[in-house]
Order: sequence, then C-alpha cells, then structure tokens
Amino acid sequence: GATHDAERKILDDIEHQFQLGQDALIKITEQFLEDFRLGLGDYNHPMAMIPTFVTGVPDGTETGTFLALDLGGTNLRVCEVTLLGNHDFRLRQQKYKVSEALKTGEATVLFDYLADSVDAFLTEFSSATGSPVSTSVANPFDSPTEVPLGLTFSFPVEQTALNEGKILTWTKGFAAKNAIGNDVVRLLQDAFDRKHLHVRCVALVNDTVGTLLSRAYTAGSCLLGGIFGTGTNGAFVEQVSNITKLGNSPARTKGGVMIVNTEWGAFNNTRTTLPTTPYDNKLDRESINPRKQAFEKFISGMYLGEITRNILLSLIDASPRPLLFDGSSSAPLNTHYGLDTAIISEVEYAWESGRGDEVAPQKSSGSKPNWQSAHFTDVDALSPQDIARLERIRDILIQRLQLAPENVTLRDAAIVRWAASLVANRAARLSATAIAAVLVQTSHAKLGGGTPEPKENIVVGVDGSLIQHYPNFQTRLRASLQSLVGEAVEKRVEIDLAKDGSGAGAALCALQAIKQG
Ligand code: ADP
Repeated sequence: GATHDAERKILDDIEHQFQLGQDALIKITEQFLEDFRLGLGDYNHPMAMIPTFVTGVPDGTETGTFLALDLGGTNLRVCEVTLLGNHDFRLRQQKYKVSEALKTGEATVLFDYLADSVDAFLTEFSSATGSPVSTSVANPFDSPTEVPLGLTFSFPVEQTALNEGKILTWTKGFAAKNAIGNDVVRLLQDAFDRKHLHVRCVALVNDTVGTLLSRAYTAGSCLLGGIFGTGTNGAFVEQVSNITKLGNSPARTKGGVMIVNTEWGAFNNTRTTLPTTPYDNKLDRESINPRKQAFEKFISGMYLGEITRNILLSLIDASPRPLLFDGSSSAPLNTHYGLDTAIISEVEYAWESGRGDEVAPQKSSGSKPNWQSAHFTDVDALSPQDIARLERIRDILIQRLQLAPENVTLRDAAIVRWAASLVANRAARLSATAIAAVLVQTSHAKLGGGTPEPKENIVVGVDGSLIQHYPNFQTRLRASLQSLVGEAVEKRVEIDLAKDGSGAGAALCALQAIKQG
C-alpha cells in the first residue's frame, strides 16, 4: 500500500546516496592524481605528499640486528628485530607504560624515560647487548658497537632528513613541554648519550613507510604501503624527479626513487569530489576536526560505525512511521561513536558466513548490495538459512546495542545489515581509488584499463583491522580496482598484510639509513 511505498522510497533514497557509479570512481581517481601532482609540487597542500628521504626498499636478502622504538599510542614499544636474510625476521618486543605525568611533563624527562626503556630492554630481553652489530651493509657510523635504532613516531613532524624531523604538534593526549619545534631524533639521541647507551637513532619512520618496507622485505619488493585501521594513509615509491618541491636539493639531484608519505586521509578536504550524504555531514560537523581528513572519514574504522549509526537513527526517527526498532533507541545508539565498526563488521560476518553453499565471497556484492532479497516485506519468502542468519544478526543487535528483544524484528536485522553494507561498500570502493591513483601515478596502469598484463606482480602491503577483519572489504575493493585499471593489471596486484609494520618497518628503515650512509 501507500505506507509501504513511502517506506520503500526512504530506503531507496538512502541506497541511492551511497552508490558510487563507475563515472564517479573515475572522477575521484583523476582528482587524486591531480592532488598528488599539487602535493609533489608544493608544501602546505592538503595532500601533503611528504618526502621521507627513504630512497630504496629492501629485497629480503638483508641481514642484521636492529632496534625499533614505537611511540604514538597508549604504550611505548621496544623491539629487537633480527633480519634473517631469507625474507623472514625474528622479533622480540616489550611494552612500557607512558604515564600521564610523562606525557605532559618536561620533554627531557619523557625522552629520558624512552632511553631508560631501551636500556631496560637491552638488559633484560635483547641478544644484541654488548655484541657488535653485524649487518650485510657497511655501517658508516662512528662506533661499530652501536646498535642502530629506528623510531616510529606517530605525531606530526616535518621531516628534513631520514634521521631528522621537527615536532610540529602533539596529539592524542601528549603535551610534553619544550618539545615542539625541536628535532625528535636529537631529543632521543641526547637522552641515549646522557645514559651512555650504545644505541644510535638513525631513522625516523612513519607507519605507512614501515608497512611498505616490511612487506618489501617479506615479498621481495613493494610499491605501496597502506593503512586501513583507525585511520587511513598510504606511502609509495615515487621517482625523485617527480617530487618537484625538493627543488635542486641534493636529495633531488641524486635522482632515483624516494618513498613519499601521501597523507591521503586529507584528500578532498575542499569537499568537491566525494559524494557526501547528510550522514557524512553530521559526522564531520560533530568531529573534533571538521573539514579535515575528509577522505579518512569515508573510509576508516573510526568512522564507518558512526556513519551507520547516523543512518540507523534517521530510520528510527523516520516519518510518518519509524522504520527501525519500533521507534526505540538505546544508550549505545544515542552515544557519539557508540556503534563501533567492529559491530557492523560482526553483523556483516553473520550474514556472509551463513550463506550455506555460497560461503565463497560473492564478487557481485561489490557494486550493488542486494538488500531487496532480504528485505522486510518478504521475511516469509526467505529460506530457512536466510532466517537463521537474520536471527543471528538480531541477537548481535540485542546484545551489542542493548536493544529490547521485543523491539527488534528480523526485518530490522535485514535493514541494519543493508545499512552496514552500504557504508562499507562505499568505503571499499573509495579505497580502490587511492590504490588505482598510485598505480597510474607510477605508470603501472592507465585509468580505464588498456595496460597490458605486467610481467611481475605489483606488491601492495597493507595493515589495519578494517582491511584485516571487515568481511569482503578486499573483495569489494578489488572489484572496484579492476573497474578502474582493468583486469590485466588488477590480477597482478598482490595485496597482503605487512607483518608488523611499526616494529620491523622501523628496523628496516634503520637498515636503509645505514645503506644510504
Ligand atoms: P590502529 O589503526 O589504531 O593501529 P587497528 O588497525 O586495530 O588500530 O584499527 C582499529 C579500528 O578498527 C577501530 O576503529 C575499530 O573500530 C576497527 N575494528 C576493530 N575490529 C574490527 C573488525 N573486526 N572489523 C572491522 N573493523 C574493526
């Protein structure tokens, strides 16, 4: 009847807003390429395209023992990484707490604590103590007994050399005094020297670069490292001649390649290209960084649950009649960021893993989620298998969203699953544009296809819970990638997890620093 048509129209409208057709994908990829170009040409562009001064990638034959220090979250992590020379490495690690007092006190006290932690690690856990480092490359540093260390520092820095970078601001609850504007490597090295530790910080590493280097070591080569976790970002191997903002600096005139950290999460901060819905606008307005990290807000783990929450709330409040949960909400649903991406991931998993014979991920779900099949009017027409998976989703909703069982129907379960798939599918398709842009930028593909099949695989290393755990994320991403660069190229793109990008990656960056002298 009329009510039914009205309800259907509301859902159709939402679905329509989240669809990204082929033309839109092409346009977005073209804009990416334009922004790459602008960022490589100038500083202070939203797509920062930060030169990392890493001018080579490992091939997996390198050997040696390195330390890695990872500061950026709740914990401080110290690792000892032993490269075995056969694409494999051994890693020992220890975590140390960083107290509030350390985060907000004097920088020297914080860096002394970092040095103390490395000292404690070397005493208790490391096999490198006192023994000279032997690597497969000549160590140009003063003392052959110094252990080289790579620092993963996940705060904004302006990097000026592999082992030099000014701290721009603190984030994530850190506010140590007298640090901003100083070289973070110097701060750390001074602390090592004060304690007479035989450790030399030779490299400052971003986690995307670590991901790229770690995958290169395992796979033998790597073009692109991508993070799809709380946030999203990517780094790739660029021709130095294209990094025109380096001008005539020695780094540029030497030629060759350099890894560039794109900071692609900030793509489209001017919001001209991405298909923004009211649900996205609400998220952006209520975020701590409105109009910043625009691309990231469509893609990453921090936001997908929140976009879905916004859709669900609009359906709970739909007029003339609620379209969900009989118009009732709950504490998690009423809470900003109260719907974690892990929950919509669980909902989709319950749906995808319950398909009986069709357990294999369906490629076609990439472009058009088939919500009609499980839609509200036809619950009677569903197979017993479909009912079973909707019941599982219903249980998840009752449990995780603290909804009253009497307010959650199978139809509600189907609608939540549908909303989750719209949001995740759009994220996966947009992720493909970032990867496609890098393939085109590096002449591995032409936009629209038509490139002959490459002779060698193109290796992409990835990290992050979203790409690791979200059901079908990679399948959906690959389907879009294929539509952008053609099947011949897509099938040679090898997307795999990078093992421990921040630990092994930092160690490999230290190795690279020694190689580069
Ligand atoms: P980080 O990027 O901070 O290093 P992760 O890679 O673990 O950490 O990403 C954390 C993000 O991933 C969170 O936003 C979380 O919501 C999301 N997440 C956690 N588990 C899952 C899951 N099973 N499926 C999809 N996303 C998840």
